[in-house]
Amino acid sequence: MSKSGLEKVKARSRLDSGSDETAQCHHVLVVEDERDLQDLLKYNLEREGYRVQCAGSGEQALKLVVEKQPDVVVLDLMLPGVDGLEVCRSIRSNQEVGKIAIVMLTAKGSEADVVAGLEAGADDYMTKPFSPRELVARVRAVLRRVNEGGDLKKGNGKRMVRFGEVTVDPLRHEVLIQDKPINLTVTEFKLLYQLISRAGRVFTRQQIIESMHGPHTVVTDRAVDVQILNLRRKLGDFGSKLVTVRGVGYKFSG
Ligand code: CA
Repeated sequence: MSKSGLEKVKARSRLDSGSDETAQCHHVLVVEDERDLQDLLKYNLEREGYRVQCAGSGEQALKLVVEKQPDVVVLDLMLPGVDGLEVCRSIRSNQEVGKIAIVMLTAKGSEADVVAGLEAGADDYMTKPFSPRELVARVRAVLRRVNEGGDLKKGNGKRMVRFGEVTVDPLRHEVLIQDKPINLTVTEFKLLYQLISRAGRVFTRQQIIESMHGPHTVVTDRAVDVQILNLRRKLGDFGSKLVTVRGVGYKFSG
């Protein structure tokens, strides 16, 4: 009998509370129909200590996700039958496995695919061709972020977050840069909190729009861009860490 999802999540966050040296405990599902690429990914991930399983189709992937509950799914978009986007949406809509991290693989330069992937709930993406080493690094980073995200949720999603010398305190509605407070509007504050609490993750404009509830709602892509520009200006020297990902969206990055 396998552990319940909740127990598994708890066990995972305990494992991750230490260093990154827990790769051997993490289970990766590689979903890729090109056999050579599947082998290459498996080889590189196993070499780093991950337990790896492979699926060559969307149907097989969905079956293994439920049966094995991997920690991360490396998911190709172009698959025979059920494609990667559909697999991603199915995982996200399933309560039991919905929190599994997903790194999507897309054809080179297809920004529309990247945006669609992120909006379907992917945590990160890589465009082909990519270096296996970078993929392993992305898998590691995404695992770390997902576990940090778990901690965030435990505190009602209102936990103080820090990135370098920027501190965002949602309870006091305060942003400090090098210990000096800066003045942000409600929308700018929400935007900064969203980006900084999942630093490194790209958010599409649509995801930003959807997360901005309340009276100061941002409603168009252009409005998001304007808010980002204002926020960047107010962040001064740290504004350069708020990076535009061309054709896709924005991220906060060191
Ligand atoms: Ca493919």
